[in-house]
Amino acid sequence: VAWDKLCICTGASCSVPPIKNVNVKGVFTLRTIDDALAIKEYIKGKKKAVCIGGGLLGLEAARNVKKAGLETTVLEVFPRLLPRQLCSTSAGILNDKIHGLGIDTVLGAKVEEILGNDRVTGVKLAGDKILEANFVLISAGIKPRLELAAKAGLDVNKGITVNEFMQTSNENIFAAGDIVEFGGKGWGIIPAALDQAAVAAKKITGQPCAPYIPTVPSNKLKIMDFDVMSAGTAILDDADQDCKVFISKDEMKGIYKKFVLRDGKLIGSILLQAKKDEGFVSQNINKQVSEDEIEQRLTLHA
Ligand SMILES: Cc1cc2nc3c(=O)[nH]c(=O)nc-3n(C[C@H](O)[C@H](O)[C@H](O)COP(=O)(O)OP(=O)(O)OC[C@H]3O[C@@H](n4cnc5c(N)ncnc54)[C@H](O)[C@@H]3O)c2cc1C
Repeated sequence: VAWDKLCICTGASCSVPPIKNVNVKGVFTLRTIDDALAIKEYIKGKKKAVCIGGGLLGLEAARNVKKAGLETTVLEVFPRLLPRQLCSTSAGILNDKIHGLGIDTVLGAKVEEILGNDRVTGVKLAGDKILEANFVLISAGIKPRLELAAKAGLDVNKGITVNEFMQTSNENIFAAGDIVEFGGKGWGIIPAALDQAAVAAKKITGQPCAPYIPTVPSNKLKIMDFDVMSAGTAILDDADQDCKVFISKDEMKGIYKKFVLRDGKLIGSILLQAKKDEGFVSQNINKQVSEDEIEQRLTLHA
């Protein structure tokens, strides 16, 4: 197919950390429907699952593996769950909720080796702790599919590097979505892929086009009757001195609200069991908000 302008949107594959014996039977990643079907088939009759990675995908997958009847343990290398979305206090509350679902978690757990010869029998952690497992799922982030870009001689780093109009180092080749690196960063979420695709499409078709403004990440965990939302920059426990941080929590009810303001702008928020505030955060992230409104929201219950 001949082209004048090209847009590469080949997405990403799952990133697999350097773990010994990782290709043994019974170790899976989850990206496509075929992966999901293969996992569904493999876990039939299995007893013990280890899910490596306590991010959004890892927790959602662990919940479903548990529902399928396997004893399930989530291993996270960071000292908290959802390390890219939650601060340690909110992650602690979530950890308790996850345990409440009968899912075990081991934090600060670095997997060094998958055990088993013809199929997986367990995992070995740094420090030689061993966990039995007859199914292992790795959810450790994504790896942009760079083969085409490499063949085309484009500049790449972790992703294809693009300018604010989604142009690669070849002005006639654009890129958008999980494959892209912009400002040293990749996103790996649908809203960013859509924002980038809109910019690329306008530029390719010669329409007036504002430069891409980095998408503010906003994520929701969809695993149970427990609402978790994280938007913007709110994961640090000690926000920098320019920031004003508003927090309220009710650990009995699992409610936690954190709003981070810089120069009167809402730059980040973490909400647990606070559905009534989610719309406010979505609409006002990166916008000026009044401190009075934030104070009122701290006492508002879901
Ligand atoms: C299980 C799972 C759950 C997720 N849940 C969420 C969520 O709740 N919210 C959210 O925001 N994000 C979620 N994501 C992330 C989201 O799916 C991605 O950010 C989004 O799909 C990126 O879009 P994309 O078009 O860049 O890549 P993709 O959706 O991966 O599309 C790329 C397509 O290109 C095809 N392709 C690759 N190479 C070639 C080639 N050489 N020739 C032709 N075609 C090729 C691939 O087969 C694929 O179909 C989830 C991801 C997974 C895996």
